[in-house]
Amino acid sequence: MPQSSSRPQVLIVGAGFGGLSAARALARAPVDVTVVDRRNFHLFQPLLYQVATAALNPSDVAWPVRSILSRQANARVLLGEVNGIDTARREVRLGDGRQLPYDWLILATGATHNYFGNDRWAPIAPGLKRVDDATLIRRRILLAFERAENATDPAERRRLMTFAIIGAGPTGVELAGAIAELSKKALASDFRAIDPRDARIVLIEGAPRVLGAFPPDLSEYARKALERMGVEVWLGKQVLECDPAGVTASGERLEAATILWAAGVAASPAARWLNAPADRAGRVQVRPDLSAPEHDNIFVIGDTALVLQDGKPIPGIAPAAKQAGAYVAKLIRAAVGGKARPKPFHYQHFGNLATIGRNLAVIDFGWLRMQGFMAWLLWGVAHIYFLIGARNRVLVALQWMFDYLTFSRGARLIVGSDPDAEQHKP
Ligand SMILES: Cc1cc2nc3c(=O)[nH]c(=O)nc-3n(C[C@H](O)[C@H](O)[C@H](O)COP(=O)(O)OP(=O)(O)OC[C@H]3O[C@@H](n4cnc5c(N)ncnc54)[C@H](O)[C@@H]3O)c2cc1C
Repeated sequence: MPQSSSRPQVLIVGAGFGGLSAARALARAPVDVTVVDRRNFHLFQPLLYQVATAALNPSDVAWPVRSILSRQANARVLLGEVNGIDTARREVRLGDGRQLPYDWLILATGATHNYFGNDRWAPIAPGLKRVDDATLIRRRILLAFERAENATDPAERRRLMTFAIIGAGPTGVELAGAIAELSKKALASDFRAIDPRDARIVLIEGAPRVLGAFPPDLSEYARKALERMGVEVWLGKQVLECDPAGVTASGERLEAATILWAAGVAASPAARWLNAPADRAGRVQVRPDLSAPEHDNIFVIGDTALVLQDGKPIPGIAPAAKQAGAYVAKLIRAAVGGKARPKPFHYQHFGNLATIGRNLAVIDFGWLRMQGFMAWLLWGVAHIYFLIGARNRVLVALQWMFDYLTFSRGARLIVGSDPDAEQHKP
């Protein structure tokens, strides 16, 4: 697409939920839009745990950014990793030395894992944010069963068949439920020396209940459902140490070969690039119109921004990022069209959804609370609906239907290498 140099240049960093929503909402605006991302696909993170637990393939939950924006005449897509911003020159710096100019800048670079100062745990207890994380976790889970099949020492076999998941928010709950289903159903008759149904799955949470963002009755429902599925739920236990052999939580030791981290997020380094004030998670403290302090033409949205509404931060979820992207696009449209600046951003919360396993989910829309099969159906419909691309929707729907009828998990491939796991063998 030829870029007209006379039109305002809108540069969007990050093609996640926030960045793409902004780009699409600028489709008819008299601006040139450049979307830059360090990877060439948009990732639907809400279903990533299904890649990690062998239910879906990576390409089912990701879609090339180029094809998403191919019909948008005023948009171009660049592959590149941003590592700094020169606000005086109005340029963004890429890792390979390129500089991208902007008139308007939207930073939508998401978040990463937060080990709360214990970064040495990262190779031992991977978190789930990227496709690479999901395939690494899938590899570790499947390899643990393979190694247990070969193990002769009963204690080592037990350790190999023990899975610790740290953090009982939606991702931790989803992972624990999916590993339970994998071991108790899909793998149940595939091994000879071990019985995968003996796998021990332990979900460790520092707070007194799982799914802390949900009302207590739904948390309690989720805990009981997990326990019925064979997951041990440890509540009120602070993880003090993760090592290659296992986890120590509030004085209790768990020998576990596979440890997964679902306990915290840290924002991308956008605050550092801007030298802007940030909260403890690194989120930029934006102004009511989502602009960065002292920069009327730079906006920070999605998981990278701290947006306070009624004194509380809005949640780090996809709808919040999408609404912020649409709002900033509206603001830029108004500014380039010489119209009045829109009212401050207002996030509309539609509700919280979390799935626990086959047939089981909890939903809290405020005005409506649901649990069990109907909640699970609604959760499935919502996730298929929000997947980008008709191909992905059809593939995921068919895959789920097949898995539902057969209890199977088709994507059980051990691929890639995991040098960290080799290095961290006890
Ligand atoms: C496992 C998991 C499950 C989730 N489940 C749900 C759910 O069920 N429902 C829900 O609403 N939300 C869920 N979320 C949260 C939701 O995915 C996020 O809130 C949402 O993705 C935030 O959108 P964003 O645009 O801020 O960032 P993202 O969608 O993360 O996008 C950020 C983009 O920026 C790019 N990027 C980052 N740094 C750079 C850089 N330096 N240079 C160039 N590009 C860069 C990344 O490659 C990425 O494409 C889940 C998150 C995870 C990790």
